[in-house]
Amino acid sequence: MSVTVLAIVQNISIEGWGVSAAGLLAVFFSSIVFWQDPAKRSNRTFLFFGAAVSVWGIAFAVFTGTYGTPAIHGALSMIYLVAPLVPLSLFLFLYDFSIKGSPFSFWKFAGIFTPYLCLAGLLSIPNFITGYDETLDGGLGGRVFGKGYPIYSFYMLAFLSAGVIVLIKKYRESAGIFKFAIRNILLAFFAMSVLATTVMLLFPLFWVGYDLFWVGLLGVIIFEFVIALILIKYNFLSLKVIATEFFISIIALVLVVELFLATSTLDLLIKAGIAMLIIFSSSFLVGSIKREIQSSDKIARLLGDLDYMHKQLKVLDKKKSDFLSIASHHLRDPLTAIRGYASMLTEGSFGELSVSLREAVEKILDSSERLITMISDFMDISRIESGDMNYKFVDVDMKKLVLDLADEMKFNAERAHLGFNVAVGKDLLKDESFVTVGDAGKLRQVVSNIIDNSIKYTPQGELSLLLSKSPDRKKILFSVSDTGIGMNASTLEKIFRKFSRADGVSKVYTEGTGLGLYVAKEIIKKHEGRIWAESKGEGMGSSFYMELEAKV
Ligand code: ADP
Repeated sequence: MSVTVLAIVQNISIEGWGVSAAGLLAVFFSSIVFWQDPAKRSNRTFLFFGAAVSVWGIAFAVFTGTYGTPAIHGALSMIYLVAPLVPLSLFLFLYDFSIKGSPFSFWKFAGIFTPYLCLAGLLSIPNFITGYDETLDGGLGGRVFGKGYPIYSFYMLAFLSAGVIVLIKKYRESAGIFKFAIRNILLAFFAMSVLATTVMLLFPLFWVGYDLFWVGLLGVIIFEFVIALILIKYNFLSLKVIATEFFISIIALVLVVELFLATSTLDLLIKAGIAMLIIFSSSFLVGSIKREIQSSDKIARLLGDLDYMHKQLKVLDKKKSDFLSIASHHLRDPLTAIRGYASMLTEGSFGELSVSLREAVEKILDSSERLITMISDFMDISRIESGDMNYKFVDVDMKKLVLDLADEMKFNAERAHLGFNVAVGKDLLKDESFVTVGDAGKLRQVVSNIIDNSIKYTPQGELSLLLSKSPDRKKILFSVSDTGIGMNASTLEKIFRKFSRADGVSKVYTEGTGLGLYVAKEIIKKHEGRIWAESKGEGMGSSFYMELEAKV
C-alpha cells in the first residue's frame, strides 16, 4: 500500500475533521446516557447507534483523506459497510425506547440483521452497489453507482420507515410528558430523514454529486445529539446528577494523583486515608443527591403530566360546550313553538277545552317550560365557558325586581300549597334605595332560580323572601329561606358546582340538572357580588343569600 496513515490523516478535509469530531462528541453523549443505566435496553441500543454514527463519520473522514489515492476503494467500502448499521441501530433504539416489551427473540434479531449481512455480501461485488472509477473527474476519480444501488437505498429507507412507524404508533398510544418526548424525537427524526435521504441517497444519483454527503452525515450526528438531550431531559436522567458525578470523579482523580506526589510514607498514608475518606463519603453523597434529584424530577414529570391532562381536559370541555351550544340552539326553537301553542290552547285561543284536555295541555306547557329553562342553562354554560356571556350593565332597582318576581311566583308557591312571605328590612327607611349596577335580565334569572328552587325543594311549609341592606348601607342583601328538605354539609359544599345536586335528590326531584346555581354563581361573580347557601341539615330547611354592591 503506497498510502501511509500519516498521509491520509494529513489529507482529511475540514468537513472530514468536523464530522468525525462531532461524531465523537455524539458518542460521548450516548455513553453518558448508557452509563446512567446500562441495564436499560434502549440505552444499550442508543450506544450502538452512537457508535455506528461516529464510526461512519470517521470512515467518511478517511474517505476524504484517501481521495485520489488507491486506498479510496477500501475507504469507500468502509463507509458503505458501516452506513447500513446506522438506520438499523436507530430502529433498534426507537423500538426499545417506544415499545418497552420483552427483548427481541433470537429469530427477530436474525430477521433484522440478515438484510444487513446480505447487503454486506452485495457490497463485496465490485461496482454492483457502488464503486470508484479512477478515470473520472480529470483523473482524480469519482464514485459510480451500480445496478444494486436501489437495493441499498431500499434497505436504508425501509429501516427509516420502520422507525417512523414505531414512533407514530407509540405517539398515538402515549400521553403526558412521554408523548412530548416521542413527538420531539419524531420531529427530529423526520427532519434528519429528509435531509439524509436527500443529500446522501438522491443527490449523489441525480444532481449535485457527492459534495454534500457530509451535510447529511452532520445532520444524523446532530440528530443523535438531540436525541441524547431529549433522553437526558425526559428519560429521565438529570443533568445535575451527571454534573455531580463528573465533579466527584475529578476530585477522586486529583486525590489519586496526589498519592503519587507523596514525599514520605507517612505523607502517603495520610493522603491515602484522606482520599479513601473523601471517595467513600462522596459516593454516599452522590447516592443521596441522585435519589433526591430523581424524586424531585419525578414530581416535576408528574406535574408535567398533570398539566398535559389538564390541557387535554380543557380541550374536551370546550368541545362539549360547543356541542351543547349547537344542540341547544336546535332544540330551543321547536320547543318555543310547542310552548307557544300550548299556552294559546290553555288561554282558549282555539276554543273551550274539556277539563281532561286542559289538564293534558297544561302538562305539555309545564314540561316545555322546564325543557326551555334547562336548555337556557345549557346555553349559558357554553357561553360562560367560551367567554361569550354578554352583560349589559345598567342601574337596576332590586326592590322592584324582587317584588315583581315575587308577585309572579307567588302563584307557583300557592299551587304547591306553600306559604309565601315577602319582606323588606324592618329598620330601613321607606324610600331606601336598592339600586345596584348590573344586568337586569341576568339578576332576574338568579333571583327567580333561587325562589324556584325553594318552591321545588320544599314539600310543605313556607318560604320567606327578605330584601335588606348591610349596616353601612353599602351592600344589598337578598335572601330566600324555606322549610324544605335542607342540605347536609357535603351538599352545601358542592351545589354551586356544575352538574352538582344533592345525593339522591334526583330520585325524588327528577326535573333538575344541577346547573342553575352554577350559572347563578357565575353571574353574581361578574357583578362582584356573593351568593351562598346555609342549612342546619337535611330536613331543616335552607337559606340562600345573594349580596350585591349598592349604588351610591
Ligand atoms: P337543580 O335544581 O336543577 O338540580 P341547581 O343548581 O339549581 O340545580 O341546584 C343544585 C342543587 O342544590 C339541587 O339539585 C339541590 O340538591 C340543591 N338545592 C338547591 N336549592 C335548594 C333548596 N332550596 N333546598 C334544598 N336543596 C336545594
